[in-house]
Amino acid sequence: MEATINSSAIDLGRQNLERKDVAPLGNRPPRALIDPFARAITYLRVSVTDRCDFRCVYCMSENMAFLPKADLLSLEELDRLCTAFVAKGVKKLRLTGGEPLVRRGIMTLVSSLSRHLASGALNELTLTTNGSQLPKYAAELKGYGVERINVSLDTLDAGKFRAITRWGELDKVLAGIDAAQAAGLHVKINAVALKGVNEDEIPSLVEWAHGRGMDLTLIEVMPLGDVGEGRLEQYLPLSMVRARLAEQYTLDEIDYRTGGPARYVTVKETGGRLGFITPLTHNFCESCNRVRLTCTGTLYMCLGQEDAADLRTPLRASEANDLVYAAIDEAISRKPKGHDFVIDRRHTRPALDRHMSVTGG
Ligand code: SAM
Ligand code: SF4
Repeated sequence: MEATINSSAIDLGRQNLERKDVAPLGNRPPRALIDPFARAITYLRVSVTDRCDFRCVYCMSENMAFLPKADLLSLEELDRLCTAFVAKGVKKLRLTGGEPLVRRGIMTLVSSLSRHLASGALNELTLTTNGSQLPKYAAELKGYGVERINVSLDTLDAGKFRAITRWGELDKVLAGIDAAQAAGLHVKINAVALKGVNEDEIPSLVEWAHGRGMDLTLIEVMPLGDVGEGRLEQYLPLSMVRARLAEQYTLDEIDYRTGGPARYVTVKETGGRLGFITPLTHNFCESCNRVRLTCTGTLYMCLGQEDAADLRTPLRASEANDLVYAAIDEAISRKPKGHDFVIDRRHTRPALDRHMSVTGG
């Protein structure tokens, strides 16, 4: 897909390419990334910060301990790692977090990465956000060649929104979505299905999103990190949600894929697309094309497994990228076949100690 980028973004990209601290695409043609199950890795998700201006009940505990700022990779180091992945065939980059738009100087990174859109090496630069900072940044994002973003929103009820996010304000997020659409960004809404919280509201979320020309994707809550509440109380199987929606709407299965785990239907009555991400009721790993980088330079080859690779040490050991390429190759050779999340009465503890904000979902 060809991205439209304004000329100032291209100029900035060129300037960044000439900067010495941002490495060019590579010193030798690196091998493409193919994992042991013959899956091509073409998608990198980057958690640029573990911090956030919200404290969603399924994602964080109220008193989260965050990483010391000194442990974070600098924006230049994040750029260098992303660039190494692009050189190795990554075509899609998603910035996430924590909340990516609260990382100081984040637009410098977006501007710098936009050079890979301008050169054609990258097909898509995108982000997942809680929307709170979009009034400030939406137009700039569009200017740097971002075409589509995901905004997370689980309810349209201001009281419930506050209860779910603990610190968020619905009006600000709605203003963020308005700003994004006004800037010409395509917005997809992500909503986590929460038992007894938003389950009755899902039809109105579908109608609201589709009425504004936005796709909606529903996500099952995943057992990541101790959030101070039992997962069994939060978990709502999407098989149940889908069966209930099917009583009210005509859901037509379609082949549409965004390179991710969502399976889509069109809702005949609204004409919009509805996605289901079901890590618990259906395993989606066979087509997995992605890996996840944290803000400290740790690479997770699977969202649902502990195994990880340290890319910060090879990054800092040398100005050339050979060590980084070798570390990435070695990590991909360990990418597991899949995860095995379970939430039931015998498995109410987190499957992993790591919170979702570490890897960005
Ligand atoms: N702060 C941004 C946001 O909320 O969109 C980006 C990071 S957030 C970790 C990315 C996505 O993960 C959000 O859509 C959020 O709803 C989802 N998420 C967080 N914790 C989750 C969990 N335990 N299970 C399922 N989805 C989760
Ligand atoms: Fe923050 Fe996103 Fe996690 Fe909510 S889901 S606490 S907005 S990182």
